[in-house]
Amino acid sequence: MTNLNTTQLIDEKRIAARVKELGRELSLLCKDGEWTAVSVLKGSFMFFADLIRAIDADVKTEFLGVSSYGNATQSTGEVKLTLDLTSAVEGKNVLLVEDIVDSGLTMDYLAKTLRARSPKSIKTCALLFKPGALKVDVKPDYVGFEIGNEFVVGYGLDYQGYYRNLPYIAQVNNIN
Ligand code: 5GP
Repeated sequence: MTNLNTTQLIDEKRIAARVKELGRELSLLCKDGEWTAVSVLKGSFMFFADLIRAIDADVKTEFLGVSSYGNATQSTGEVKLTLDLTSAVEGKNVLLVEDIVDSGLTMDYLAKTLRARSPKSIKTCALLFKPGALKVDVKPDYVGFEIGNEFVVGYGLDYQGYYRNLPYIAQVNNIN
């Protein structure tokens, strides 16, 4: 087990309130046309489960797996698809849901990969966005919270596979 020194950054109440607001905005987006909400695993699973319940519109759900940093806390720049969609998105509207946009390489890769499948449109939503860490120009269309360059865990986000089950988001103080 890891022994991280953490400080709570965003508590459960703030997360729940912001997810409700995002849900209201996305309900307006998704009320027209056929939408498929895509959860980028593993990190977005908890956010995704709460978010889709806050969307008052018909949406299908799909899951995409991507390789993460492994045990490191810095992006390697390499993104690998580990789990693909189970249905075609050609001609459909896609809402891509990520846990966090850091360098932006993952979202950039996924948006390009999905665009090659000729969807009608793609919108992106991230629970957390680190504008100071961006390496490519991919600001998400919908953002839960903007944060600094700190490494965070909880509410689906891990460190070495742990901490995903924290109900809040915490900043890690003792890793770089
Ligand atoms: P990006 O490609 O934008 O650099 O980040 C891709 C992935 O890295 C995210 O989906 C997430 O899994 C992981 N990641 C980036 N920043 C953090 C962070 O602060 N904490 C955790 N736990 N994962 C992060």
